[in-house]
Amino acid sequence: MDKLPKDPTADHPQDAHQSLDPEDWSAFRQQSHRMLDDMLDFVEHLRERPVWQPIPQTSRAKFQVTLPQQGQSLESAHETFMQDILPYGPGNSHPGFMGWVQGGGTPVGMLADMLAAGLNANVGGRDQMPVEVERQIVRWMRELFAFPETASGVFVTGTSMANLMAVLVARTVALGKSVRQQGLREFAMQLTAYTSVEAHGCVAQAMDLAGFGTSALRRIPSNDLFEMDTQALEAAIEADRAAGFQPFFIAGTAGSVDVGAVDPLNEIADIAARQNCWFHVDGAFGALGMMSPKVAPLLQGIQRADSIAFDFHKWGQVQYDAGFLLVRDAAQHMDAFAAPVAYLRRESRGLAGGSPWPCDFGPDLSRGFRALKTWFTLQVYGTEKLGNIISQTCDLAQYLVQQISQHSSLELVAPVALNVVCFRYLGETKYNSSQRNLDDLNRDIVADLHESGIAVPSTTTVRGQLAIRVAIVNHRTHRGDLDAMLNAVIAVGKTRTDQATE
Ligand SMILES: *Cc1c(COP(=O)(O)O)cnc(C)c1O
Repeated sequence: MDKLPKDPTADHPQDAHQSLDPEDWSAFRQQSHRMLDDMLDFVEHLRERPVWQPIPQTSRAKFQVTLPQQGQSLESAHETFMQDILPYGPGNSHPGFMGWVQGGGTPVGMLADMLAAGLNANVGGRDQMPVEVERQIVRWMRELFAFPETASGVFVTGTSMANLMAVLVARTVALGKSVRQQGLREFAMQLTAYTSVEAHGCVAQAMDLAGFGTSALRRIPSNDLFEMDTQALEAAIEADRAAGFQPFFIAGTAGSVDVGAVDPLNEIADIAARQNCWFHVDGAFGALGMMSPKVAPLLQGIQRADSIAFDFHKWGQVQYDAGFLLVRDAAQHMDAFAAPVAYLRRESRGLAGGSPWPCDFGPDLSRGFRALKTWFTLQVYGTEKLGNIISQTCDLAQYLVQQISQHSSLELVAPVALNVVCFRYLGETKYNSSQRNLDDLNRDIVADLHESGIAVPSTTTVRGQLAIRVAIVNHRTHRGDLDAMLNAVIAVGKTRTDQATE
């Protein structure tokens, strides 16, 4: 520190230099305290707000103006945020949110995001502590999934990106590094991949984006529990091989998107080993179930994967976004992405040291400090508490199943392995309950619920039927929130069917 020049600006007193820092730091500090307080108020009093509400036209209009030439005060921009943005968010922090599969975030993660923004680290690489923090998360994830010391990991936006990257790593392993120069020309038609019909749409998208095309992805049927039928899997692989294809990739799912099923991962691992295929697990929300003593036994076999994609922003409750890819063999992982570029030369000392860098493990060069909010979340809450939250969401799902069974107007449409409950409102006997009518009715009920602000479930299609889907992910969700949702479904459903039969 002694060697730093005293005040390098002192030699240029008349300089017309401008910067974007505040002229009055003390006023800025006061404003920043108000902003922080407003956000803490929001989180503390979430329950007093509707889960979601429609955006008024006046608010939309404020974001359809021309590019500002002159700035306005921070106070007035914040005022706009409070009036026109904050009340009309997606609702996933709210305890009544149970749609799709989204995490609730935590006040700790929020503060960590602020610290990360203050540091403004570009975590693409270089010898800096934020890279070390990301490496700490990699080491922790090796521990959680019993992966070897040779495993690598990298933060990405989400599991969609992590699944795509896993396909690219498996491709490079199957075809050799030369595919990165030559492209797929001579191979593309021959490589085939496998996943269950229950897999998330981004697995097919990954095959598309990687250049294989979605038709190279074989969709294996699922059993009564919505788990991949492993006999059908092996039969499909053998049929493809006999027909001249080269099977290279199997994606099992730990926590399927529609109903929360877990594929038989141990059996898939055996098949992948026998058939010389890459074994990937899409564990977008389910993989972190390893922290829960209740869920971990259901994930047996995940520790045998070649790669696992998952999101800290779902069951991990970390602020968006925080996707992650863990790969068993770091050398294979780097082979798919690392590229020598002159201006990114690595040195043995100075800031350009510390190779390999996160940018060697994925397509992103500039990257934010996602590791910090994840580190704070794990460090402050610990895996025991986070695991208990995961168990709690599964217990709540069982509570909901029990409540549904007590209403003759409701029907459970899929077994519940984890935290996702799919059910339908059937209506009273008078109601003309054809399949199409029931689909429309349940779709309307869900939209009515959204607009009521009481609860936000979503919909999905289970074996051809539209279902109300409740995915309990948020740590704030309580039995009372499920009661409120169910009562609203029954009340709205009754009103609608009464109207229809009048
Ligand atoms: C959410 C989810 C994805 C997609 O993850 P993103 O983080 O939204 O990209 C993929 N697979 C499953 C099973 C999911 O639940």
